[in-house]
Formats: sequence, C-alpha cells, structure tokens
Amino acid sequence: MTNKNKYFIANWKMNGTNKLVNLHKKIIKFAKKKKFKSNIIYCPPSILVESFVHAFKKTKIKIGAQNCFHKDKFGPYTGQLSSKMIRSSGCEYIILGHSESRAHGDSNKIINKKIINSINNKLKIILCFGETSNEKINKLTNKVIRKQISSALKNVKNKNNILFAYEPVWSIGTGKILNEDNLKKYFLFIKNLLISKYNIKKPIILYGGSVNSNNIKLFKNIHNINGFLIGSASLKINKFIDIIKKTYI
Ligand code: PEP
Repeated sequence: MTNKNKYFIANWKMNGTNKLVNLHKKIIKFAKKKKFKSNIIYCPPSILVESFVHAFKKTKIKIGAQNCFHKDKFGPYTGQLSSKMIRSSGCEYIILGHSESRAHGDSNKIINKKIINSINNKLKIILCFGETSNEKINKLTNKVIRKQISSALKNVKNKNNILFAYEPVWSIGTGKILNEDNLKKYFLFIKNLLISKYNIKKPIILYGGSVNSNNIKLFKNIHNINGFLIGSASLKINKFIDIIKKTYI
C-alpha cells in the first residue's frame, strides 16, 4: 500500500460496555506515535458514543456511528436515531450499508436516503458493499458491486466525503479472505469504476472481512487498498494496535 495515511476503522458492532478506561489510555498513547501515520476511527454502539467522544477529545482519533434511521426530522420513531442527532453527538463518520444492517432490512433505496441525510448533516460516510457467498459462486461479484454503488450514489452530489468499504459478506466474521490476485483484481475494478463512472478523483477504498494481525501482511502488497474496516479484531486493543503496526513494518 503506498497511501501514507491509512484508515483503521474499528466496528464494534453490539459489543462493549462503559468500562473502557484502559482501552482509551493505550490507544491514545499509540495514536501519538508519529511513525504510524494513520486515521483511527472508532465506531462503538450508539450508547457508548458519548464516552468515546469524551475520551478521545484531545486526540486525532475520530468517532463514527454504525447506522442511522432513514428519516431526519424529529418524530415518533421509537428506538431510532437520525443522522442529525448522530452528528450532534460528536460523531464525524457513519457506517452505512453494512451487510448486517442490510440483513436487517436496509435496502439499497433506504441506504441511499441515509447517505443523503448524513451528507447533509456533514457526516463522512463509510459505505459498505460486497457480494454474498452465493453471488460469488454465481460469478456476480462485479454486478453486485456496481449495483450497490450506483444505488447508494443516486442523486448524491458531494461524493468526496465517502469512503468505500469493500466487504465480501462471506468474509465477514468467518476467517475467510480473498487471495492476493483477487484482492488486486477487485480493488482495481472498484477504483476504476469510482474514477470513470463517478468522477471521484482519488477514491478511498477500504477492505473489510476477517482482517487480523496474522493476515494483515497479505494486504501490504495491494496498492489500491487505503485501509481497513475491522470487526472482531478491533475489540482487543493489543490486536488492533498490532494490525496497525504490521501494516507499516
Ligand atoms: C465488519 O463487520 O465490518 C467486519 C469486517 O467484521 P470482521 O472483521 O469481524 O470480519
């Protein structure tokens, strides 16, 4: 990877409690090291956002949300959070289109609404897309990627605040990852698509799916990967820091 400031995004999903003091200290100390130039973004469950924002206040570590509701005006939507609320809580990023949210009902159309609302509320988007295992077997990967990106970007004017996270669904939480040739092939395909069809000059493209401190070395040779969305391996602070260190060494 040639890009200097790589992204390391910790997606905590529905994990964690408020007892995070030790984690905060370690990652804050690590983030100060100039040697590892990186953009670290924590996406905790919404209930923990406030304590993360507070803990990382004087650091370069940013906070993101894991999803939002598709409506943005206050109203009778029990249990929901709007992108406006998320931005006002101190989040700068938001994950949208994650396969786990798609599995719970987020259609391409709903994801597009959420993106437009989130951009209007000055959030940066971490847009997830990727094929399921069946789609992979049926050689539909390129088609799925094209469709999910085109639906997501419909009527989106400012695309510069979107990070594109390719997350093959079959790779999330399974320990399975793409081989080097396929990583190179798909990342080049995504990059070319974003440049030629959407006119995004320097797209930021991330990989997500079972990244850990043992397999991170594989990704170093993939020129077009600008960082990672990391689930389970981000929950253990030493492992997360190890991934970042090994990316650069
Ligand atoms: C994710 O959920 O975005 C993810 C990449 O999870 P994991 O690293 O656990 O596969």
